[in-house]
Amino acid sequence: MCAPSVIDSVRRTVSRRELFGAIGGATLAAACGQSTPAEAPPESQRQPRTFDRIFDLTHVLTMSIPVYPTLTRPQMNQTSSLEENGVYNNDLILGEHTGTHIDAPMHFAEGGLTTDQLPAARFFAPLAVVSIAARASDDPDTAVTVDDILSWEQEHGRLPEGAFVAMLSGWGDRIGDADAFTNADEAGVTHYPGFSGDAAAFLCDERDIVGVGVDTFSLDTGNAEGYPAHRTFLPAGKYGVELMANLATVPAVGTTIIVGAPKHERGSGGPARIFAVS
Ligand SMILES: [Zn+2]
Repeated sequence: MCAPSVIDSVRRTVSRRELFGAIGGATLAAACGQSTPAEAPPESQRQPRTFDRIFDLTHVLTMSIPVYPTLTRPQMNQTSSLEENGVYNNDLILGEHTGTHIDAPMHFAEGGLTTDQLPAARFFAPLAVVSIAARASDDPDTAVTVDDILSWEQEHGRLPEGAFVAMLSGWGDRIGDADAFTNADEAGVTHYPGFSGDAAAFLCDERDIVGVGVDTFSLDTGNAEGYPAHRTFLPAGKYGVELMANLATVPAVGTTIIVGAPKHERGSGGPARIFAVS
């Protein structure tokens, strides 16, 4: 806010035309000690966008969204309404690993980075989409292998430096059906695709990646024991994104992922808005 007297004195020094134009607005804001629109937005608005396609890789976080079997269901409780209070507000009660979300390294690695510590630069990365959807439709226990990554590279070239590698299994289509998404057998063992431990080791040791994503519940396959993919990626400082949406709409190569990760202190992860642009 700016004191009316300051606004008046500025108004006296600029013409009416200037006052309502960018120059006048900047003068006013500068006089009020604010960061002025002229310092950033008008300039950036004049720059052409360097992308023209935007993909939203985020599921709607409904209160009925499938939740990993051992975790708490989300709740949204309305605390005020426009009709009664003049303001609409809800309280969200969420596990960190709910909906489309990130796994910070600390989730599985003592001393690993937490949500607030992950450098912002790692949230903008060349996106590589590795599809195993054809196999996954017949075999829910299938995993991304080293061969899958090498075949992807044969077709599209070596994984770019600092890449984010996403598995497309087709599981995103099941998001509206929690039983189909979880896909548990009679013994309670879940069956959905993920990364094999070997592929995780290859990506960490032989390639330069910032993170990995899946369209299922977990970086690991549903029936994996001991979280081999989590226990490889996260201690290596990579982050994960789980329950990614719309990966089938994104080209295998040539887009940039933008991970709108949360920044709560000491977080092990959290719901995130994920985009790809090209
Ligand atoms: Zn998670």
